[in-house]
Amino acid sequence: MIHRNAYMTDELQQIYDQTVEFVSREVLPHGNSWEDAGSVPRDVLLKMGSLGMLGLRVPEEHGGLGLGPLASATFSEALGSSTFAGFEVTVLVHTDMSGPHLVNSGTDEQLAEWMPGVLSGETILSIGVTEPDAGSDVAGIRSTAVKDGDGWRINGSKTFITNAVYGDMTILGARTDPENKYGISMFLVPSETEGFNVAKKLDKHGWRCSDTAELVLDDVWVPDEQLLGEPHRGFYATMQNFQNERMVL
Ligand SMILES: Cc1cc2nc3c(=O)[nH]c(=O)nc-3n(C[C@H](O)[C@H](O)[C@H](O)COP(=O)(O)OP(=O)(O)OC[C@H]3O[C@@H](n4cnc5c(N)ncnc54)[C@H](O)[C@@H]3O)c2cc1C
Repeated sequence: MIHRNAYMTDELQQIYDQTVEFVSREVLPHGNSWEDAGSVPRDVLLKMGSLGMLGLRVPEEHGGLGLGPLASATFSEALGSSTFAGFEVTVLVHTDMSGPHLVNSGTDEQLAEWMPGVLSGETILSIGVTEPDAGSDVAGIRSTAVKDGDGWRINGSKTFITNAVYGDMTILGARTDPENKYGISMFLVPSETEGFNVAKKLDKHGWRCSDTAELVLDDVWVPDEQLLGEPHRGFYATMQNFQNERMVL
């Protein structure tokens, strides 16, 4: 088998070829209409899920193919053959920006509950870090999560959140330790949670089939079981995931 570059194995080359073939069959003929509609149809994501494409890097014990970050990079390059970057980013925000938070920090119970839908495409993920006053400076997050009974009450706002208009769950960063600049925690917030509001679907010059949300978090309550990872360690989890996502996207 002829390899595309020195890093390719036969397995990675197959992923590349199959993804390019999928894109030419399922994406290229429809991409312009998705751009007009401002979304990628869920059917396509479900097809990708059924072919194992949403779990390339996910360890086998969590239901994925266990092929690691090089598979993600290969997959990303092949998705780029569509030239519809909005399609590519819809997929990769799910698989490589948001999914790793769950895989890296999820408890056994969280993984058992959410990974099947994440891998099948029934649960499309987004990552909610950016706020109007906290972009590059993640430690500037102002949204708060305050302990309330057996859970946390979240208030604040987010902006530029990919997949949060049509997706199913946002992995959300909020300040839990007001005394500590880096005292942020991550939470699993399904989109039907009361108080989780898409205030606006943002219009963009490019990536038009990728949906981008402005979110208002109005007294959102989530149980302790939806805290993702250690409390107050979300800044570090985000930095860890940036290393992967900036390479893959
Ligand atoms: C289409 C789109 C999709 C996005 N999707 C998501 C998403 O899914 N989830 C999410 O959480 N966020 C998302 N983002 C947000 C994105 O991560 C931020 O836009 C990014 O972090 C930059 O933040 P900012 O736009 O506030 O710019 P700023 O942080 O205000 O930066 C503005 C400029 O200043 C520069 N700058 C900033 N700080 C410094 C410094 N200390 N020294 C020198 N230069 C500096 C930057 O390089 C940049 O050129 C998305 C953004 C876009 C446009």
